[in-house]
Amino acid sequence: MGQMNRRTVRDLRRGNRSTLLRQLYFQGPVSRQELGTLTGLSSGSVSNVVGDLLADELVEEAGSVESDGGRPRTLLRVAPGGGHLIGVDVGETHVRVELFDLALTELARWEHPLTPGGLERDPEPVVGHILTGLDAVIAKSGAEPGAVIGVGVGVPGVVEQGDEVLVHGPTAGRDAVPLERLLRTGTDLPLFIDNGATAQGQAEMWFGAGRGADNAVIALIGSGVGAAIVTAGVPYRGATSSAGEWGHTVVQVGGRACRCGAVGCLEAYVGAQAVLDRYERGARGAGEGGAGDGGAGGADGSGEDQQAAFAAIVGAAGSEARAREVLEEAAAYLGAGIADLINLFNPERIILGGWAGLLLGGRVLPRIRAATASYALRRPYAQTEIGLAELGPDAVALGAATLPLAHFLATGGAR
Ligand SMILES: [Zn+2]
Repeated sequence: MGQMNRRTVRDLRRGNRSTLLRQLYFQGPVSRQELGTLTGLSSGSVSNVVGDLLADELVEEAGSVESDGGRPRTLLRVAPGGGHLIGVDVGETHVRVELFDLALTELARWEHPLTPGGLERDPEPVVGHILTGLDAVIAKSGAEPGAVIGVGVGVPGVVEQGDEVLVHGPTAGRDAVPLERLLRTGTDLPLFIDNGATAQGQAEMWFGAGRGADNAVIALIGSGVGAAIVTAGVPYRGATSSAGEWGHTVVQVGGRACRCGAVGCLEAYVGAQAVLDRYERGARGAGEGGAGDGGAGGADGSGEDQQAAFAAIVGAAGSEARAREVLEEAAAYLGAGIADLINLFNPERIILGGWAGLLLGGRVLPRIRAATASYALRRPYAQTEIGLAELGPDAVALGAATLPLAHFLATGGAR
C-alpha cells in the first residue's frame, strides 16, 4: 500500500513536470501566473515544479513583463542549452544527420549520398553511415555526448515497434531490417525509430503548416509517396504502425507496376521517378505506358540527378507542351489521391510536402485543388484547406529530432 502511494505521488509529480514543460516549450516565454491559468495547477504546484526545472537547468528566465499594479512578472522558457537532440533522415537517396539544441536550432549537420533502396537492399553500410554521422555531428558541435537526450531516426517504409524495432522497406520480397539492433552495435544513445513521413508530419504539426489543427494529413511526395495522418491531435498508426502508406493505395486497377509488387499504386503515377519516366518516354516518342513500366523510386540515378531532372520538368512546364502534359497528369492523379484522404479522414487541412510535392505544388496547386474537388465529396472538400508544407523539402531530420523531444516532454524531462 505504502509503495503504491509512493508510486502515485511520483507519477503525479512527473505528470505535473510534463504538463508544465510542454506549456513552457510550446507557449513560452510565459510567467508562473500564466502557467497556472494554462494548466489549472495551483500556484504552489507551479512554483515547486518550476523550481525543480530551473534547478535541473531545463528551464531559464527570459526577462519580465509589467503586471497590472503589481510586481513585474518573470518570464520563463525551456532552456535551449538544456540538452541536444539528434535527427537522422535515412532517405531514398541520402543519410543526413543533424544535431539541434532543445529549441531545435540546428548546430551541426552531416550528410552522405545513398543509392535508392539502400537500407533494405544492404543495411550494414547505411548503419555505418548513421553511426559515422552521429560521431561527426557530436564532434562538430562540441556537444557533450551525455547532453544528447536522444536520437530520432526517420526511415522509408513501415516501422514495426514490437519487442524489437523492424523496418519493412517498400520493395517487394525484401526482409525486415532490425535497425535498432544494428545501430546498438555502435551507440549507447537512446534511439527512437519511426517512419520518415510520420516524423516529418509531427514537425509540420508542431512548428509548420499544421499548427492549430487537430485533424490533418501531411501528404509527402519525393522518390516515395507517403502520408502522416493526424486525428484528434494524435498520429493514426493502425494495428502495427503501417497506416499512412498512401503511396500504395490503388488509383488504377490493372495500372502501372509499382516497386511494392502491386500495380496501379498512386506512387507509380505521382512519385518523382514515375513523373520522370513518363516525361522521358514522351521525349523519346514512345507511346502511352501500361502495366509493367517502371514504377517510382527505381535504382537508377542519384538523388541529386533525380531532383534536378524533376525541377527541370517543372521549370519547362511554362513553355513546353510535353512537360505541361506530364505535370497535369500528375496533378490529376494527385487530386484523386487527395480526394481519397478527404473522404476517408475528413481532415481540416491537407499539407502537401516532400521535395517533389513542393515543386509540383508550387507549379500546379490550383490544378491539384480542382482535381481534388472533382473526386472528393463536396461537403468535406469545402471544409478542407489544401496548402503547402512550411518547413521546406528537407524536414525529415528535424521531424526525426521531434521523436526524442516528444519522449522528453512526455516524461517531464527525464533522461
Ligand atoms: Zn505500391
